[in-house]
Amino acid sequence: MNGDGPSIFTRIINGELPCHKVYEDDLVFSFLDVNPMSTGHTLVVPKEPAVTLDALSEESAAAIGRVLPIISKAVLEVSGATEFNVLQNNGANAYQSVFHVHFHIIPKFKDGGGLSWPMSTMPLDNEEGSQIAAKIRAVLG
Ligand code: AMP
Repeated sequence: MNGDGPSIFTRIINGELPCHKVYEDDLVFSFLDVNPMSTGHTLVVPKEPAVTLDALSEESAAAIGRVLPIISKAVLEVSGATEFNVLQNNGANAYQSVFHVHFHIIPKFKDGGGLSWPMSTMPLDNEEGSQIAAKIRAVLG
């Protein structure tokens, strides 16, 4: 759920809206993206309606993690691609437009079809890196 009731993906999972389904189990649902970045662009969605990944239960996260490589392999076989991106956006400022956790599987083709990546050329400052990593380790316990 978000502020406006069930997400569009919950409605797809419930069969209220159409989709091109490729996979379903007790915790996960997967279907083709309606505006594909390349042929075979597929979404993998937990049935649990968490808005962002950090809010997802460990059970759903494990279920997603189990099937992502399996679905990726099938998408590659069907699309003919040998390379692909797995992308996951959290928050409007991070390009999330559907507020229900989902992973994109996006085949990448030699002709450039697929995701473009704005690679950073700014090296990590060593001191800052030490401090940030130490703080994250402390939070993780
Ligand atoms: P994001 O920007 O990461 O939130 O991606 C949301 C994705 O959902 C976009 O790639 C949309 O094309 C896709 N999408 C939105 N509505 C539907 C729908 N009804 N069926 C399939 N894909 C959808």
